[in-house]
Amino acid sequence: MLKKINKLNFLALYISLVNLILYHFPFYKFVCENAELSSINGIVLLSSITILLIILNALVFYIGLFILRKVGKWILVLFFFINAIALYFINTYGVIIDKTMIGNILNTNFEESSSFLSIKMVIYLVFLGILPSVLLLKTPIPEVKFKKFMVTIGLTLLFVLSLAFANSSNWLWIDKNSKTLGALVMPWSYVVNTSRFYYHKSQKNEKQIPLPASKVANQEKSIFVLVIGESARSQNFSLYGYPKNTNPLLSKIENVKSYKAESCATYTTAGVKCILEYKNTGKLFEILPNYLFKNKDIDVIWRTTNWGEPTVRIKNFQDRKALKKLVNDDSYNYDEILLKGLKEQILASKKNKILVVLHTSTSHGPTYFKKYPPKFNKFLPVCTSVELANCTQNELINAYDNTILYTDYILATLIGDLKQLPEYNSTMLFLSDHGESLGEKNLYMHGLPVSIAPKEQLDIPFIVWVSKGTDQLKNNGILSQHHVFHSVLDFLDVESPIYDQNMSIYKAKK
Ligand SMILES: [Zn+2]
Repeated sequence: MLKKINKLNFLALYISLVNLILYHFPFYKFVCENAELSSINGIVLLSSITILLIILNALVFYIGLFILRKVGKWILVLFFFINAIALYFINTYGVIIDKTMIGNILNTNFEESSSFLSIKMVIYLVFLGILPSVLLLKTPIPEVKFKKFMVTIGLTLLFVLSLAFANSSNWLWIDKNSKTLGALVMPWSYVVNTSRFYYHKSQKNEKQIPLPASKVANQEKSIFVLVIGESARSQNFSLYGYPKNTNPLLSKIENVKSYKAESCATYTTAGVKCILEYKNTGKLFEILPNYLFKNKDIDVIWRTTNWGEPTVRIKNFQDRKALKKLVNDDSYNYDEILLKGLKEQILASKKNKILVVLHTSTSHGPTYFKKYPPKFNKFLPVCTSVELANCTQNELINAYDNTILYTDYILATLIGDLKQLPEYNSTMLFLSDHGESLGEKNLYMHGLPVSIAPKEQLDIPFIVWVSKGTDQLKNNGILSQHHVFHSVLDFLDVESPIYDQNMSIYKAKK
């Protein structure tokens, strides 16, 4: 049947229709949920968007096939495959394909990506990737004269413009929702957002803007351990009133205080940047470890099983591969590896002021059940599928709660280790890069733009332990991630022109 399409404009239109029907279910779901479809205006909006989508895509396909011929066809095949995968992710995890999500995908290593593979994904690939591709490859590309080609483009543009003007009353609605709509239009969501991601990445390689030199006020021995959590949300910590006992150890330790806090973003790179910077700007200032490492009186240690921080330039940087060498059992799979030999490392330091940063990965989805050793499988039954929507919400939350239980164990062990260093004045601060959705409003994981993100993705734990007692701590309202920088400077008695006492969680020293 396709062989009968003997005009290029019909073929382009046909491909555009197929593209609309196969890959835009989430797009229409969003429009139906967010536009007033019971009014005439709503119907006009819906039909205009549909016509625009079909015509504009057809126009691009038309130009592409005219210029690139066979290569254009293969690019469309590639689009079909990526569309299929994108649709799988959107339908399975409730994500949208914006710049942030592209960053998450491109930054995820294969080990993590493979945890997404599933039968359902194969079905998506076969029906939405392979089948339409085979049909397209079998279809010949009709010839068209250059003059006719230009006339077709001109007329189409004229039509699109008049339709857009006739619809000016709906521009506001489209503008308001442009971020989400753009992230659901195939294939442009990932084509445009991948380019945007790389553009921003090249910007990020810019130098960190240096901060004015700091000075240490005294030589009292002190340690600050900053633990950066991954996807931990405060509502599942019993310290924050969760009815299940996910903090059996921390709740029994003295001198622990938990603050309410909100993350500045819903994804790792932005959240970690906020934790490490002294204030929130569009720029990249020197981050905490680099800044303190420049001070000859301070030692900085960074241990990580995660990724996504701005470049850390210090001597003691240990990633998962380096940490793996410290053990010969399978404990390197879990975050307790971050504590291995840490006490000895601190004791070996010749400096009196030490900052330790532990960047964990424990509550990272979707395979929560893989992130803790079997003995922490306390809340049962747990979800063991990578397709979160296949599990009951209860199974999913159980698996997630076990990661919090494991985090509780790691933090309690860390505090125990610090207590064994009585010659130091020490403190531990645990906070998360962002929260996590566990099926509420049919959303999973994280990464929605802050403006539309639910509180589950933003409310983070901010838990502090102080060796000398919580009298040292202020009573604060809702904290931000930028409180970390100033609190660290304050606790280690670092003097700096950029230090802001209002942003410290510790009371002013007498
Ligand atoms: Zn994260």
